[in-house]
Amino acid sequence: MEFKNQDIKNTYDKFNEDTNSLPLKELTAKYLGRNSLVKELLAKIKNIPDDQKKEYGQQANELSRYIEEKLEQISNTPIFQGTKEYIDPTAPFDINQNNSSEVYPKGLEGTKNPLTQEMDRVLDIFKQMGFDIIESRQLDDDYHMFETLNIPKGHPARDIWDTFWTEEGLIPPAHTSTMQNRVMKTAGQPPVRCVIPGMCYRNEATDASHEHTLFQIEGVYVDKNISVGDMLGTIKTYLEAFFQTKLEIKVQPAYFPFTEPDMEFVISCPFCKKTGCKVCKYSGWMELMGCGEINPFVLREAGIDPEVYSGFAWGFGLDRLVMVKNGIQDVRRFRSGDLNFLKQF
Ligand SMILES: [Zn+2]
Repeated sequence: MEFKNQDIKNTYDKFNEDTNSLPLKELTAKYLGRNSLVKELLAKIKNIPDDQKKEYGQQANELSRYIEEKLEQISNTPIFQGTKEYIDPTAPFDINQNNSSEVYPKGLEGTKNPLTQEMDRVLDIFKQMGFDIIESRQLDDDYHMFETLNIPKGHPARDIWDTFWTEEGLIPPAHTSTMQNRVMKTAGQPPVRCVIPGMCYRNEATDASHEHTLFQIEGVYVDKNISVGDMLGTIKTYLEAFFQTKLEIKVQPAYFPFTEPDMEFVISCPFCKKTGCKVCKYSGWMELMGCGEINPFVLREAGIDPEVYSGFAWGFGLDRLVMVKNGIQDVRRFRSGDLNFLKQF
C-alpha cells in the first residue's frame, strides 16, 4: 500500500510491525479504539490544507479499512497456526529439556495400535488390486443403514443389527454396508471397485469375543458379467496376500437381506494347514466373512440397472482377523489402553 502523507504512512508501517508482537486485544485498542492512532489521524484533518483534505481523508479511511480487515483475519486464525511446537501436558517426561535423547526416553515412543497397523496393510493389498478406498461414516440415517439394503421398516432382519440411535433418529452404523448405496451413486455407472473401512457400533454385552465398537471392511464390486466365481477369486487373492500363504476355500450358506445368494466365506486354517490347531478349534477351517452377489433391489436403489450389471459385496471384522493372526484371546484388549499389551506390536 502506498500513502503520500507521512503520518499515515508511519501509522501503516507501525501497525504492520505491531501485528508481529502485540496480541489482538491490544492491537484493536491501539489502532481502532476511542483514543487510537487512526482516530488521531482522522482528527488531524483540520490541520491539512484545503486542497489536500479530500485525498488525506480518503487515505486515512483506506488505512482504517485495511487495519479492520487485518484484525478480522487475525481473529479468525487458529491460535496454533504457525507455531512449531505442540505441548503434550500428559507426556511422562519434561518437554522443555533440550537433550533430545532425554526428551524422548527409549521405550516411551508411541506405536500404532495393532488394528491401525493391520488396517494399513489390508488397504494396501486392496489398493494394489485396483480398489478405491472410501472411508465409512460415524453417523448415518435409517435410509442408508436399512432401506437401501432391502431392509424396510418392520423387516425382521433389522433385529440382526441391533445398534444405538440418537435422539434425532440417526444411527452410529452397525455395519459398513451403510455406505453401499452411496459409493455406487458416487461412482455413477459401473465399474465400481471400492473398499470401505469404517468403525461400527453394536448394542452388545461385551465379552472376550464381543465388543461394542469394531472395525469393519466392506467391499463392493459392480460391472458387467460379474459372477460368484469373480467374488471367490477376489476374496481368496486378498486373504492369501494377507496371510502370505496359499489357502483352500469353501462357502457355506448364510443370510443377508442385501445379497442374493448369501454366503459365509471359509478358508483352510493358515496356521495348521488343516491338521487342526487351537486357532481353528481343531476343525482345520475358519469362517472369516459374509459375502454374496448384490441383491438387484440394492443395485436398482443406487440407480444401476440389474439387467445390465451385477456385482458382489463382502464385509468382515478387522478386529477378529487381527486376533486370529496374532493369537489374541480377548477382543477388548485392543481398546483397553493397556500399554503392556500395545507395546508388543
Ligand atoms: Zn488350525
